Amino acid sequence: MTRHLLVATIAFAPVLAPVLAAQNADAHVTVTVGTATAKRGERAYGALVVPAGSDSGTVIQVAVINGAKPGRVVSFVSGAHGTEYTSIVALTKLIERIDPKKLSGTVIIVPLLNVASFEQMVPHINPVDKKGMNASYPGNPSGTQTERALAMVAEQVVKPADVIVDLHGGDLDENLRPYSYWMRSGNSAQDSASRVLDERFGLDMVIVSDVDITNPARTRSLSGYSLVLGKTTFVAEAGRSGLVTAEETGMLVNGSLNVLASLKMIDRAVPASPKIKWVGHDQRVRADSGGMFYATAARGSRVLKGAKVGYITDYVGRKLSDVLAPQAGIVSFIRGVPSLAKGSTIVTVVEVFDGAPPAWTKPAP
Ligand SMILES: [Zn+2]
Repeated sequence: MTRHLLVATIAFAPVLAPVLAAQNADAHVTVTVGTATAKRGERAYGALVVPAGSDSGTVIQVAVINGAKPGRVVSFVSGAHGTEYTSIVALTKLIERIDPKKLSGTVIIVPLLNVASFEQMVPHINPVDKKGMNASYPGNPSGTQTERALAMVAEQVVKPADVIVDLHGGDLDENLRPYSYWMRSGNSAQDSASRVLDERFGLDMVIVSDVDITNPARTRSLSGYSLVLGKTTFVAEAGRSGLVTAEETGMLVNGSLNVLASLKMIDRAVPASPKIKWVGHDQRVRADSGGMFYATAARGSRVLKGAKVGYITDYVGRKLSDVLAPQAGIVSFIRGVPSLAKGSTIVTVVEVFDGAPPAWTKPAP
């Protein structure tokens, strides 16, 4: 800056001061996430560029929709599991459904966190470092690719948001009934805010999950980490086995729009919430050896403890064992492919609560 301009700036300072004060009152005149910068009333596209470190770098694309008017900041994230396609496709569609000119507040959308999983069609983990991209928060700027990526997500996507919505679904090997999670921290204000949005999202089965937020091992997921930060958060899941259907994609797109409408960020009539099945206390059966799995129970079916839900054969078709329900409840998901390795999850059954969800109880450490 030249001396002449400096003088001019000082001379104008009294005039500019009220304008600057007004801008300071709105902390979101411009919002930047990675390389995307959106002014009020704009939609911007960019990426979190994760540089190479001990392993390769990655580029996580992001959309920022900065509303013409102030309001809450909501982040939607999917694709931590890069082959849960329905959730990923849903968030790409959500981006174009939000008009920045009519939006109050700011929406940050990251449809595909785990790019290597998506490209290589490797479920559950990031194949680059074999770590879980929904199991390594808060990340580490000098760690492996997953940790470096999540450190950026934590700083730029989670911390600036008031509300974090984490979308998932049945992975390539999971035949899943749509549901959401109501993750509770034991803080009643935070938990009830999360419950309201979860119910408005509109899925008719909600798994109640109590999280000890003082236990770092329980808060490595995006939702767990968000709870620690005091955010309003929930998880919603739809889709299964590599399929992308209009019905299940629509559940996630409409649910996300319902959240924004409930927060008065968009003008949209929110349908009445469905009658919700409140469930919890999931029990899983894991394979104790490899083999071929055949399901005999459908996703979403009610089962009694000990009921047959499938069977396992060897690779020449000889039956090895039946798979039995570990408890009475609803099959939230069951293995959707024959491939079975030792340790694979075969089925998950959730206990059905009697009507309303139970009171929060601090989980045992
Ligand atoms: Zn997932």
